[in-house]
Amino acid sequence: SEKSFKLTYATMFNPPEELHQHFEAALAQIKTEMGQEHGMIIDGRECKAGSTFEDRSPINTDWVLGKFQNGDTQTAADAIAAARRAFPAWGARPWQERVALLRKAADLIDERIFKIGAVISLEVGKNRTEALGDAAETSDLIRYACDQITANNGFIHEMGHDPLQGFKATNYSVLKPYGVWLIVSPFNFPSALTGGPAGAALAAGNTVVIKPASDTPWTSRLLAECFRDAGLPDGVCNYVTGPGSTLGQALIDNPDVDGITFTGSYAVGMHIFRSFAQGPYVRPTVLEMGGKNPTIVSRNADIEEAAVGIVRSAFGLQGQKCSACSRVFIEKPIYQQVLSRMVEMTKKLGIGDPTLRENYLGPVVNKNSYKEYQEYIDEMNQAGARFLTGGKILTDGDMAKGYFCAPTIAVDLPLDHHLWKKEMFLPITTVTQVDSLEEAMGYANDVAYGLTSGFYGSLDEAKWFFDNIQAGVNYVNRPQGATTGAWPGFQPFGGWKGSGSSGKNAGGLYYVQLYMHEQIQTLIQ
Ligand code: GLU
Repeated sequence: SEKSFKLTYATMFNPPEELHQHFEAALAQIKTEMGQEHGMIIDGRECKAGSTFEDRSPINTDWVLGKFQNGDTQTAADAIAAARRAFPAWGARPWQERVALLRKAADLIDERIFKIGAVISLEVGKNRTEALGDAAETSDLIRYACDQITANNGFIHEMGHDPLQGFKATNYSVLKPYGVWLIVSPFNFPSALTGGPAGAALAAGNTVVIKPASDTPWTSRLLAECFRDAGLPDGVCNYVTGPGSTLGQALIDNPDVDGITFTGSYAVGMHIFRSFAQGPYVRPTVLEMGGKNPTIVSRNADIEEAAVGIVRSAFGLQGQKCSACSRVFIEKPIYQQVLSRMVEMTKKLGIGDPTLRENYLGPVVNKNSYKEYQEYIDEMNQAGARFLTGGKILTDGDMAKGYFCAPTIAVDLPLDHHLWKKEMFLPITTVTQVDSLEEAMGYANDVAYGLTSGFYGSLDEAKWFFDNIQAGVNYVNRPQGATTGAWPGFQPFGGWKGSGSSGKNAGGLYYVQLYMHEQIQTLIQ
């Protein structure tokens, strides 16, 4: 049955037949639920705003997936106030109780995974395995945060005894929640990057307000329902929707917010950081921003592995992952061979409605991205680049109804061109040959970002690569993805430099602690 089917890291890379059947059944069901109006969830109650906006699918813009509330400044005030009221009791609950409730939420996500996956596929334009992976990653992120709290005894640690004579002193270090935490999540992993940080913040004892990207309000709504149905008390997890410029800004400006997790672009992340810093004191901001992720291919690489890993990472989710491979540096002796295999593979990728099994690429997320694709292509063209694949939008048949762009491998873009350094967040990757690995490493690190990277070569070179690359998540000789596809507990995800602020990766050993501050308790008896 659907319930007994467990999606794992392994089923994602090698989906069994059963996965397809469950997905198709859920998709058919979801299609009957399209077009409905959805409320926000504040203090456990369904709430409406004065007006709604339409959530349309990028696959076919005639498909109205749902109508969502245009939350405003009053919405922001109400949601933060609800989270504030709920905090004292939630924060004071024994950690074992909180962890049990969050584990229940993770189980509910797994139970509803095909429904969530179908909604993601329709809202974002993700193919089915990527959509299901996004949902499966969510519950694993929540469980990982719970595991860390459990393994560390709720982060209540006895410290050393003072050597002061004549006293009996005990010292404790206790990590405690901050209070009200705001989760501002992106369209590209609308499940994992909403539920993951929300789950960690909640397990740590904070109350949260979730504000999803306006492209993906439905996915977040389903997650908020999982948290609610798991039995979190009213006001502990609030869900609001609406424009970033009004609702989002009012949330960030509210002095009663104790911390923010934002995942999205560098520009918006820095804006949030600067706005939040206007407050009366320094409060934590966990920012996960962009990437301009390089892959370096040594002359000693396995050509097939390198080509397949690069193509997957460049074009999975239409290049709209922070982790996407957008720059490729190949040593001269094997440049032509790797490039030819990349081109052959890319030409074979299925493109179209991503809910269909045969399609690997769907549309880009919205009109803005669609426009930007054409602008970047024109700009590269003018700079003398050649496109070995793609370089054009796709309008054949039903694709004219959505935002479809061909996966593009570009060569001959001058190395000093600014698009070598700018995150495009589209299915475009630029490739060049290099004379040496040192030359490649120089380019690889010469960007404002440092999120993920890939390397294909010998084991000796691998050590050199890890020692020199400036990025948070680095893969050597990985055919499943040169730079993409991190999984909680295996490859905790986060970046250096302009890619992230916390220096501690999600789904890793040090992540849930970001949502707590330390209190020392010294008692002299
Ligand atoms: N965790 C995803 C991966 O490793 C990327 C998440 C993102 O794009 O923000 O591919």
